[in-house]
Amino acid sequence: MPEGHTIHRLALDHRERFAGETVRASSPQGRFAAGAALVDGRVLERAEAHGKHLFLGFGPAGWIHIHLGLFGKLGFGTAPAPPATDTVRLRLATGEHHADLRGPTACALITDAEKQAIHDRLGPDPLRPEDDGERAWRRISRSRTTVAALLLDQKVVAGVGNVYRAEVLFRRGIDPYLPGKALARDDWDAIWADLAALMREGVRHNRIDTVRPEHLPEAMGRPPRVDDHGGEVYVYRRAHQPCHLCATEIRTADLAARNLFWCPRCQPAHAG
Ligand SMILES: [Zn+2]
Repeated sequence: MPEGHTIHRLALDHRERFAGETVRASSPQGRFAAGAALVDGRVLERAEAHGKHLFLGFGPAGWIHIHLGLFGKLGFGTAPAPPATDTVRLRLATGEHHADLRGPTACALITDAEKQAIHDRLGPDPLRPEDDGERAWRRISRSRTTVAALLLDQKVVAGVGNVYRAEVLFRRGIDPYLPGKALARDDWDAIWADLAALMREGVRHNRIDTVRPEHLPEAMGRPPRVDDHGGEVYVYRRAHQPCHLCATEIRTADLAARNLFWCPRCQPAHAG
């Protein structure tokens, strides 16, 4: 499942290629044929993301709402576009660019009100400039649920996935099993600010990097990480390897149906 920075990056990719342009829309696969016909030949006015939801705005025709889910993919190309295969749910194209959407969980044409309803049920997103951590704090500070589970709950904070949750808790030295209501306000403010900074870097580089300069392989004289996901991290998918800071073995456990990773020494268990 892509994390929020990937969806914000896709919104940016759409803006760069299509914003202000008259766009041809089609559904080679047929499942979005009616929606595509309604936006075909219109100008893409907006492209924005909230958490893992992507919204493409076509003025009075409404918004295309896309959620990639686990298997969805968006691919971009330049003209001439190859013939679309019948796995393409939505193709957007101009004379210069095209974007092909395959296998999303959701692809639907929605109204402003329906879009607002989606924003309303999502928590604040560290990458949306108009959002702040206050609404999330109100839920977290009242909850007995662990902070690790709360961070993955899209109703609490939108866009955080398994990598960012593990890494921000490590960077702040927070026990992932700490109940939300036991989290200190200044720790939450620091986590929110850290999420915003790390995720903005993620949009820029289209990759998750969470390691501070002094802990990079070159600085520490250690070999770089070998992982399909790229990026240097402290704990994510480093189970049983030594912590970069204290050499304690990184631990893993299942939490909120996803693998959690943490350092028991740098993130000591809270009392009680
Ligand atoms: Zn450690």
